[in-house]
Amino acid sequence: MVSEPSAWPAADKAYQAHHGACPQCCAAGLNPGGPARCAVGAGLWATYQEAGDPPHFMWLRSKGRAS
Ligand SMILES: [Zn+2]
Repeated sequence: MVSEPSAWPAADKAYQAHHGACPQCCAAGLNPGGPARCAVGAGLWATYQEAGDPPHFMWLRSKGRAS
């Protein structure tokens, strides 16, 4: 249990704030494998990924779902 409950909301908020104002990151989010996120968006996305699973997805873990 090393996850920080506050890490995900903070990372999500930061990324979403940028995503909503950046056409390039918006397009990247809609088209996986398509256009890349901008430098700022890529950094925020990396932080978001490192923040772990969203709190509302934790039930997936408890079920032992693997992939
Ligand atoms: Zn961006």
